[in-house]
Amino acid sequence: MFDFKLTPSLQETQQETEKTRGRVYDLIVLGGGPAGLTAAIYAGRARVDTLVLAGSLPGGQPANTDVVDNFPGFPEGLEGPELVRRFQSQAERFGCQIELEEVVEVDFFSRPFTVRTHRATYQALAVIVATGASPRRLGVPGEDKFFGRGVSACATCDGFFYRDKRVAVVGGGDSAVIEALFLTRFAREVVIIHRRDELRATQIYQEQAFANPKIRVAWDTVVEEVLGDQTVSGVRVRNVKTGEMETIEVDGVFIYVGMDPKTELFAGQLDLDEWGYIVSDHRQRTNVPGVFAAGDVQDPLYRQVVVAAGTGAVAAMEVEKFLGEYPKSRIDKDVSTACCETEL
Ligand code: NAP
Repeated sequence: MFDFKLTPSLQETQQETEKTRGRVYDLIVLGGGPAGLTAAIYAGRARVDTLVLAGSLPGGQPANTDVVDNFPGFPEGLEGPELVRRFQSQAERFGCQIELEEVVEVDFFSRPFTVRTHRATYQALAVIVATGASPRRLGVPGEDKFFGRGVSACATCDGFFYRDKRVAVVGGGDSAVIEALFLTRFAREVVIIHRRDELRATQIYQEQAFANPKIRVAWDTVVEEVLGDQTVSGVRVRNVKTGEMETIEVDGVFIYVGMDPKTELFAGQLDLDEWGYIVSDHRQRTNVPGVFAAGDVQDPLYRQVVVAAGTGAVAAMEVEKFLGEYPKSRIDKDVSTACCETEL
């Protein structure tokens, strides 16, 4: 454990607690989903002194997923929250400290790196950013008004309330189709509202959806407004080819139109791509030596639990290497050439 001075700007606002005073972790992992927790498992097991700041609602997207069917080793599938709980207890078994705190500010300009939450200020020699991505909204009238009261982005959480009712699912990707299938357990009819004339979802899910008598698809259709008084009564939709407007009566609307990476905190410090994802290389390194990224926050393409976990493992192994190559005596100096120096 090393003792460093805090950067003055953060020191001023710091609400230091006993547990953090003077302590510099080897590694802080930002995020408590599959990527962050897998990184923690690998780091903890390698005896890297690791703090995980898991956010106030930990677990990432699997925590809102009914069944994760394609994580190897679980042939029958496993409930998303249970999978994450297992990741977490495994990380704890290897000595990682997990705090349910939301990060509000980071400083990757000075070393050790500083991470501030509402409760405390933490420091570490290395950081893995695994903050994930959050569901996108439609931005139509009624959506915000009814969010949590008929509009949802989580079928696992809210599907139960729609027993024998009609619901709409907006989107045509894997999430939309998988969750539409899930909702057929409760609802009497599920209308997938998709803006094009073909789904983006994987073939196997499409086949399941087309074979399910409870599911119909409103093709070439976009939602213009979520309708209702106290609760949702329907959606006003427009056919993008004919311009025709129509009202589809539903009791609930589930929105699955993609994700936005959670990277606002890192703008100006880490390189982001045009969609806001962190730019990282095949070793999960960002433009700042010692800061790594893993999971959906740097992955606009695959976004699978197993992929997120894999990148978390890679990031942790790279942290181990980084800490070995840049011990305390070198951490303070500018290591902006670290990537090049250590290239294999
Ligand atoms: P996605 O693949 O990006 O699909 C988003 C869908 O929403 C697309 O069909 C898109 O239409 C539509 N859309 C986007 N913006 C819209 C708007 N403003 N209005 C109406 N529709 C809009 O997102 P996703 O379904 O969340 O999946 C993300 C990634 O996770 C994908 O790589 C997916 O394969 C993966 N995933 C995998 C699983 C699994 O278990 N295997 C489960 C969930 C997700 P267009 O098609 O016209 O672009």
